[in-house]
Amino acid sequence: MTGSGFNFDNTYIHLPKAFYTELSPVPVRKPEIVIFNAPLATDMGLDFSGISTDIKAALFSGNIMPEGSEPLAQAYAGHQFGHFTMLGDGRAIVWGEHITPSGQRLDIQFKGSGPTPYSRGADGRAVLGPMLREYIISEAMHALNIPTTRSLAVVTNGEKVYRETGLPGAILTRIASSHIRVGTFEYAALQQDKGIIQTLVNYTIDRHYPWIKEEQNKTLSLLKAVMEKQADLITHWMRVGFIHGVMNTDNMTLSGETIDYGPCAFMDAYDPRTVFSSIDHMERYAYANQPAIAQWNLARLAETMLPLLDDEMEKAADTTEEAVNSFGALYKDKWLSMMRAKLGLFGARAEDESLITDLLDWMQRAGADYTNTFRHLTEEKPPQDKPYNDRAFKEWYTRWQVQLAKNTKPLKSSLSLMRANNPAVIPRNQKVEQVLDAATNGDLKPLKDLLTALQEPYNNRSNLKPYQSPPKKEERVYQTFCGT
Ligand code: AMP
Ligand code: MG
Repeated sequence: MTGSGFNFDNTYIHLPKAFYTELSPVPVRKPEIVIFNAPLATDMGLDFSGISTDIKAALFSGNIMPEGSEPLAQAYAGHQFGHFTMLGDGRAIVWGEHITPSGQRLDIQFKGSGPTPYSRGADGRAVLGPMLREYIISEAMHALNIPTTRSLAVVTNGEKVYRETGLPGAILTRIASSHIRVGTFEYAALQQDKGIIQTLVNYTIDRHYPWIKEEQNKTLSLLKAVMEKQADLITHWMRVGFIHGVMNTDNMTLSGETIDYGPCAFMDAYDPRTVFSSIDHMERYAYANQPAIAQWNLARLAETMLPLLDDEMEKAADTTEEAVNSFGALYKDKWLSMMRAKLGLFGARAEDESLITDLLDWMQRAGADYTNTFRHLTEEKPPQDKPYNDRAFKEWYTRWQVQLAKNTKPLKSSLSLMRANNPAVIPRNQKVEQVLDAATNGDLKPLKDLLTALQEPYNNRSNLKPYQSPPKKEERVYQTFCGT
């Protein structure tokens, strides 16, 4: 694979052997590229212009591997819906770490490339629909300026994968700044060897938080840095109405990127209790629970660090407890700033919070669409149609105008702040389902059109119209599935 620009410098493979198993993807019968992210490839310094479609399909299915790759499956554990489990890459294989022309270190990973020692009896394969779903949502999140793994390619393997019925098998190539998860730390802690967890702490600092190397208490600094990143991430999710759906500790990265797009979905009508995932019976991962769950996951991360923090367990526990307890205030601050930005408010005034919560409460009562309500506010005139032609909303609007007038900056600045924080388009569930339906039946055009619409989500334009309507009653998606 010369001339394509791969530039591997693999470091994960130098961690203790417990962290991974070296293995190659299982070859597939008839690989065909369904979608390829050319702009991302270019950003990564990859160039496939001189390479035939067949070779490209062979590459992104694992039938051939590029020079310099040292494929491995990662070991990890995790709390799934609150319960501890041994996991690991059951159907994923990391090719290695590619260094981009700008010096960024990126994991390239297959999802759906066959069984591994961590498959726990499952087939190690993935289905076309769910892999395209991850492609759409992860690329949409990136365009929304939200830290996320990216999708480089989806390839069908020419084989049927059995999930109740036979479905087209596919492989996703995922790009991430790393795949180190809270679950990786939980796995390391389980080894009952202080050296192992220390190695992982050092590795994570080197890879994601190099400035911490100079700090005195590196472990605590790492915990705090990850807390900050996660508070930022969850604030972004709340901003756009994103519901991850499976915030298990194995699906939370140390880098602060969103990872693992399974039953995730975007909220339509505002309701803090919104849940889409068919397996989330207890509403554990509902929209409004996400900050508290992030904190719960961070507490699991903190526990793995205890042996490094103090020889006296109690002292170590006090230290981490204090740190993790500060997450609530840390998040609240970020959430308030974000909501102020959504309403075009500069500065911070005591009345802002009730102005924000009163709007949200009204939206919930009125069943108002989360995305569109905020975007309407950027239009200078109050919206006139239903549900906005209502006294409570008009009163709120007048209060908001009073608050806006207190800004030290002109209205123009408020409007651009709002337009940069309130997307005009999101991947609406009914649209995602429609394009996936067409794509799995061989018609990729609706999917590509949707991807184009989602590329510049903050720039409203007339051709976004078909993607902006909330679902009609008959289009409403009530449940999403893990879709493996
Ligand atoms: P997820 O819910 O996607 O984060 O997956 C949880 C765990 O199940 C991970 O360890 C996955 O590798 C594993 N897993 C999911 N689907 C499969 C599959 N088809 N074959 C093997 N392992 C799987
Ligand atoms: Mg996962």
